[in-house]
Amino acid sequence: MKIAAIEISHHRILLDPPFRASWDTRPRTEFEATVVRVTSDEGLVGVGSGDKMVGFEGHEHLFVGHDPLRLERHARVLDNIAFHYGRCWPLDLALWDLAGKIAGLPVWKLLGGRSDRISAYASSGTLRGPDALADAADAYSARGFRAMKIRFHRGDWRDDIAALAAVRARLGDRLTLMVDCNQGWRMPWDTAAPWTLKDALQVARELERLDVYWMEEPLHRGDRAGMRRLRDRTDVRIAAGEMTRELHEFRDLIDAGAVDILQPDAALVGGITGLRCVAVMAEAHGIVFTPHTWTNGLGVAANAHLTAGVAAAPFIEFPFDPPDWSLERRDFLLESPVDIDDNGDLVLSEAPGLGVTLDEERLEATRIG
Ligand SMILES: [Mg+2]
Repeated sequence: MKIAAIEISHHRILLDPPFRASWDTRPRTEFEATVVRVTSDEGLVGVGSGDKMVGFEGHEHLFVGHDPLRLERHARVLDNIAFHYGRCWPLDLALWDLAGKIAGLPVWKLLGGRSDRISAYASSGTLRGPDALADAADAYSARGFRAMKIRFHRGDWRDDIAALAAVRARLGDRLTLMVDCNQGWRMPWDTAAPWTLKDALQVARELERLDVYWMEEPLHRGDRAGMRRLRDRTDVRIAAGEMTRELHEFRDLIDAGAVDILQPDAALVGGITGLRCVAVMAEAHGIVFTPHTWTNGLGVAANAHLTAGVAAAPFIEFPFDPPDWSLERRDFLLESPVDIDDNGDLVLSEAPGLGVTLDEERLEATRIG
């Protein structure tokens, strides 16, 4: 079997009312998705999504005509493209979807089949006041979630702590709580300085008091020494790595003793092929591997297959903050959204590949390139 064609399309939906993401100083009025389709000479099609595939054009010939199942070979070519141009890892996701369809097996099983499910944590995306945040937490719990991630970006971290404390007071121990400080994340126009180690340490002591499971991105993403010192001084788990760009940087985060939790995203870095190695490396060092998944439903599905199939993560991220970030918005490119069951688990099916179906009509209507 050979790869016959690779097609890339770009899509956009308008967000009205806008999505006020906590990590973006500008309200978001649109949401874009890039879809990669890889077709075999026998007519099977694998699909992927994530980054915009910047710089891929002109490199199709490095894949077309090759056996689609040579996934390690293809991942190394994608790594070389990322060295010169952009991150084109959605093609790796599409190749795994295709591999599953060729084999007639779901990707989680192709990867080893460690589990067919993972507990999902509700990853909120907006900033609410204490009462409204406690209401949202109640709603998550009622919908089946057993864990929730709260955003810190209200300007003064004491206001963030007040919102967190309101959730803990209302929900008690019904929800495991995580906190994302987003100090490693910057939009292109955002020039604010991240917290210092002493800032982060003050916050960490409050998170300990409120029994927070992990503290995410407490410092600049490159401050490995700071994360290590923070980790030594607090009992709360330190999480990082969602926008770490190179696979060797995960080794360096582990070597530095900087993290308890590693959060790479297969749709953004390394694909499934690269991150399955990171997952094994993390487990060998007693570090939890649990991906960032804030792209769209295809990205959630790909990371869920990887994590269930290879790792032993206690939770996986489930971006969901209605009405601002609804499943209808997040998964607009799919026929039906990726969703949890009544126990708060993401359960993967026996459907071949990644088990998702594109909504072709919607994709045609939203196509911008
Ligand atoms: Mg994050």
